[in-house]
Amino acid sequence: NHRWVLRHRPHGEIKPTDLDYVAEPVRDLAEGEVLIRNVYLSLDPTNRIWMSDMEQYMPPVEIGSPMRGGTIGVVEASRSAHFKPGDIASPGLGAWEAYTIAHETMARPMAPPPGAPLTAMMSVLGLTGLTAYCGTVFIGDPKPGETMVVSAAAGAVGSIAGQIGKLRGARVIGIAGGPKKCAWLTEELGFDGAIDYKAGDVGAALDRLCPNGVDVNFENVGGEIMDAVFSRMNKFGRMALCGMISGYNSRETMPGPSDFGRILMRSLTVKGFIVIDYMPRFGEAIAELAPWVLQGRIKWKAHVVDGLENALSALNRLFTGDHDGKLLVRISPE
Ligand code: NDP
Repeated sequence: NHRWVLRHRPHGEIKPTDLDYVAEPVRDLAEGEVLIRNVYLSLDPTNRIWMSDMEQYMPPVEIGSPMRGGTIGVVEASRSAHFKPGDIASPGLGAWEAYTIAHETMARPMAPPPGAPLTAMMSVLGLTGLTAYCGTVFIGDPKPGETMVVSAAAGAVGSIAGQIGKLRGARVIGIAGGPKKCAWLTEELGFDGAIDYKAGDVGAALDRLCPNGVDVNFENVGGEIMDAVFSRMNKFGRMALCGMISGYNSRETMPGPSDFGRILMRSLTVKGFIVIDYMPRFGEAIAELAPWVLQGRIKWKAHVVDGLENALSALNRLFTGDHDGKLLVRISPE
């Protein structure tokens, strides 16, 4: 079994020596266990958080342990009555490895609905789509005529969040890096405007594109971009704080908005969330999200990198923006 093992907690950007790519034998299954041949590994900004020992929502990955990650694959062997060879399944909490042994109480069947590819289960119909849905609908709650601003808007979560905002009738403005990503938002996804944060002053662009201020902020980036949006939030505005990727490679605590008092003066709601907080509502979320996806009303892309051995170098793409859609590693053929 090939797998990635955490050797050092990264300082700044992840270095190739922070993790090791090792080969180990696969042990025999115990009663109630299944062996899954992993097909796709999800690469997520939060992988960088799990490698660190910063204050976080789960225990960090321990030094010497396999790197944690979301996977989907095919059951190869089973000692569980609930799974048979050939079933599509996720081990629950997986790892950066070719094969995973999961107990039947943790493994979940993951066959995609008819017409959807397997990659959808790792993106728009998986935790990525659920993150976008829960943050937008349950926290942001954009209403017709309101203005919603999404950061990292051309990314996996942001692109779906913005489209949900549109389906809810809001004006949606996305913030993304580069003209190509911005053009995708406005020309293909139906965003009302896009701001290339690499090209100029975000605040000035927000003033131009959001003349009536901002009612909903789906925040993925933090730092200066968040600050620019925050200082334009309207009375009773809502911020769904989904991520702060601009701070993940730093050891500093992540700064909040400079105008904290605006929460008081504008009666704002600022709510951080981790998608699994909403697990009890996933059924409700998928019931609305899946038809949108299957009817083509929500568009999405996957950026697939081949080979588990390339997982670590691929992860850095999330921090440079050098990927086109939900970043996945193909570990073995479907
Ligand atoms: P994306 O596909 O959005 O990839 C990350 C993107 O972030 C990059 O493409 C890049 O886009 C942008 N980015 C990276 N560094 C910076 C920076 N310093 N300043 C501005 N933009 C930057 O990844 P995901 O969709 O998986 O994740 C997006 C966010 O959602 C992350 O913050 C992540 O932590 C969060 N998240 C939260 C979850 C939760 O449960 N709360 C669950 C899943 C994700 P560009 O080219 O435009 O710069």
